[in-house]
Amino acid sequence: MIPVRGYAGHRVAVLGLGRSGRPAIASLVAGGAEVLAWDDSPAARAAAEADGIPLADLTRARSWEGVKAVIVSPGIPHLYPAPHPAIAAAWDAGVAVDNDIGLFFRSFATPEWDRFDRTPQVVAITGSNGKSTTTALTAHVLAAAGRPVQVGGNIGRGVLDLDPAEDGMVVVMELSSYQIELARALQPDIAVFLNLTPDHLDRHGGLGGYFAAKRRLFTQGGPSRSIIGVDENEGRFLANSMREEAGSGDPVIEISVTRKLATPGWNVTARKGFLAEWRHGRQVASIDLRPMLTLPGAHNHQNACAAYAAARTLGLAPRQIEAALATYPGLAHRSQLVATWKGIRIVNDSKATNADAAEKALLSFDRIRWIAGGRAKEGGIEPLRPLFPRLAKAYLIGEAAPAFAATLGDTPHVVSGTLAAAVTAALAEAEAGEVVLLAPACASFDQF
Ligand code: ADP
Repeated sequence: MIPVRGYAGHRVAVLGLGRSGRPAIASLVAGGAEVLAWDDSPAARAAAEADGIPLADLTRARSWEGVKAVIVSPGIPHLYPAPHPAIAAAWDAGVAVDNDIGLFFRSFATPEWDRFDRTPQVVAITGSNGKSTTTALTAHVLAAAGRPVQVGGNIGRGVLDLDPAEDGMVVVMELSSYQIELARALQPDIAVFLNLTPDHLDRHGGLGGYFAAKRRLFTQGGPSRSIIGVDENEGRFLANSMREEAGSGDPVIEISVTRKLATPGWNVTARKGFLAEWRHGRQVASIDLRPMLTLPGAHNHQNACAAYAAARTLGLAPRQIEAALATYPGLAHRSQLVATWKGIRIVNDSKATNADAAEKALLSFDRIRWIAGGRAKEGGIEPLRPLFPRLAKAYLIGEAAPAFAATLGDTPHVVSGTLAAAVTAALAEAEAGEVVLLAPACASFDQF
């Protein structure tokens, strides 16, 4: 646990008592703060009370007396579609709104670090898709090279739940747009932006707001190295804005999985299964990613490029990184090879909950028995139409099934209804060499 600095003897409110809120309370108390907590859920409040945490209804003006700051959980809207009433009340009371990420960055470095040979570093990773994979992969590569590593944020432990740094420690953290948007301090040493596709637009007032939130990771504190995916215009804009005038230093490593990059400086690209590192117009390393079975598809190659660039920044050699990529175990529910049975690969990509992520999953394989559906998102599977020739058949589940069936048209499909029925049918009909793939392109609707 990381004790919070700067609030000793002050009153701090915590809104939301989940995976980030509860560790925040422990860290604030350890740092000498007096904490008041609130959660809309009576069950969460009862659990906190049982643990001796003082509660106060933060939607009421009088609860804010003497409160210096409020720490908000990422699931709580602070602006769109409408601010949570407690946040509006904090504004009225003139109380600073922050989150656990802001507290982490103001508390992580301690005077003890003066005695370390190697200063601890923080790698912060954001993007619309691939954050968890890139975070886990980066940590795996560093650990394989013997570096002390911790993982936290949107994956694994809340950031304040991490252990204080030891000599040479690297913290790899996954940050969502919500977490970045609220944090009052954001000083990663290395910041990673993978990609941007429309998601969570209701919480950010549209795509521009969503990008602006993510961009804060770079513009708020000023990382010493920015690793930026430039396959969308937002990434190109961001890379250009972080780059110093031509010729001086390499503050940016650009990554792409669609083209060779002509920009001078440092970049890492992956095309046709080969990762290549370029510095000042010269190729300095290359890795064949095709044998890496836990990193299938161009989208995972994008994640590999980002992890590679972070590891290079931290001083690892290309061959060390290559060896570690080959032993990456993969994360559950992301392109996860669950089993191979009679020559049929069964892949669980249940985290592919939007059309873009599902597209990446479909692009990774051919001859696919595709299980899709749940609660449909706007646009449905219309953008996936060019990939329908890869389908042996689709097995549709949940509310979205009728709409997906209509879009599929002549492409073989069946409405299976439930996930269990879809899996049974797909396995019964699949032939050797095919892939049974769960990539729902929908929110779960309690199915997966
Ligand atoms: P996140 O943490 O951003 O949600 P994950 O690593 O959990 O990302 O992957 C979520 C889903 O997104 C995966 O199931 C996969 O289908 C897809 N995905 C993974 N990496 C990428 C990427 N770089 N670009 C697009 N889609 C990706």
